[in-house]
Amino acid sequence: MNRKREVKGDPRRGLPAADRLIRALAAAAPDLPGWAATEAARRTLAEARHALAAAGDSAEPPGEPDLVARARTLGRWLAAARPALVVNATGVVLHTNLGRAALAPAAAAAAQAAAGYGDLELDIESGRRGDRLGPVAEKLAVLGGAEAALAVNNNAAALLLALDTLARGREVVVSRGELVEIGGSFRLPEIVTRAGVRLVEVGTTNRTHRADYERAIGPDTALLLKVHRSNFEQSGFVAEVGLPELVELGRERGLPVVDDLGSGSFMDLTPHGFPAEADARTRVRAGADVVCFSGDKLLGGPQAGIVLGRRDAVGAMRRNPLARALRLDKLGLAALDATLAILLEGRAEKELPVLRQLLAPLAELEARARALAERLARVADGAARVSIEADRARVGGGTLPGFELDTWVVALDSPRASAERLAAGLRGASVAVLARVRSERVLIDVRTLLPGDEARIETALAEALEAASR
Ligand SMILES: *Cc1c(COP(=O)(O)O)cnc(C)c1O
Repeated sequence: MNRKREVKGDPRRGLPAADRLIRALAAAAPDLPGWAATEAARRTLAEARHALAAAGDSAEPPGEPDLVARARTLGRWLAAARPALVVNATGVVLHTNLGRAALAPAAAAAAQAAAGYGDLELDIESGRRGDRLGPVAEKLAVLGGAEAALAVNNNAAALLLALDTLARGREVVVSRGELVEIGGSFRLPEIVTRAGVRLVEVGTTNRTHRADYERAIGPDTALLLKVHRSNFEQSGFVAEVGLPELVELGRERGLPVVDDLGSGSFMDLTPHGFPAEADARTRVRAGADVVCFSGDKLLGGPQAGIVLGRRDAVGAMRRNPLARALRLDKLGLAALDATLAILLEGRAEKELPVLRQLLAPLAELEARARALAERLARVADGAARVSIEADRARVGGGTLPGFELDTWVVALDSPRASAERLAAGLRGASVAVLARVRSERVLIDVRTLLPGDEARIETALAEALEAASR
């Protein structure tokens, strides 16, 4: 007789004991660390108990092999190293879900070197407490042509700190066309409210004029805020007040101007055909009291919030007790410092992955696509069609919306699997490969590949084709 059938009454009594499931799991997945096996077995049993309780007395408890399989999946997930290495073959240079900018090898090495002890807050000469940012802030100020600079945890923190420092308990005027949401969790109106600031919206979604700001300014106004739209563009019947004009108005009324640039660059990319909107120095020169942007977007460094501006405004931000809660960690600080050194020494186009990728000549991309296609055709061995073609891709990461780059891709399709399935197979490979899918083909964009990625794609394709044939 079936063991399950013998169980009378509460079906939960048909579940194995935790110890037994842990042992079965350890036998089935010997590579799983003990803590993960224990935790996964407990959670799997709790979940099964819960489901049986909900289903009532007539429910059948799941068999042990089922429980082991579920616990193994859960245990693997718990024990997995995060973030796992993936291949970015999307062509999106600043892919938010893939960690935005890839760090320069020198920046990664600097972060590793900073892992032990360092003179983070020590003045070596005097032996006294030192300034955490010190030369990093100086490098930022030099690069940005600013009186003063600061770096915090990320740009959301930079904006929060600016608002808390300069406008707490008062009003901030911002255009309705700039009340943006970036990547789901950053909504400008929410950050402003969190900073204890009242938001005064002016203009309409598509048009805001100087007169709208003028009318909104009152005795409680603390500052004028400009926000880069980052991930969308407006066209048609539109008008906005540019930063220089807003600065002029601010001067007339004695109000500071804060510019949330979002993605800022220390390189002038216009000679390469890029729009000028991200040039941080231009924003500083326009006279904004505070310009803030992310370290891991076009700048090409680690996650950080970069603040450039006037000495008084930046100094007040530094002295704000909130700065302590929003500070940059030592690994990020080291990586940022090394990234800034690369920029200052004119090595950026060679060493910063973001710039290398953005500035890669089309002929080089075509040659890389051709070489990769040859390698993948050998791997596919007739199980997939492999070709190359010209395509276009976005920069991503809330940077340069509406701007696209010409690029080259390797196109794959297989009679064994739909493009979606093939793409899922590449994602499920031992090192996941993220690609674009369009018109029933998987497109591997070579622009965003890092050294060593070609071999990883070969392996992933072999695994995906193998999975598709099962
Ligand atoms: C990206 C972005 C932010 C958020 O920056 P994080 O570094 O992700 O905190 C804020 N404002 C604008 C305009 C942005 O584009």
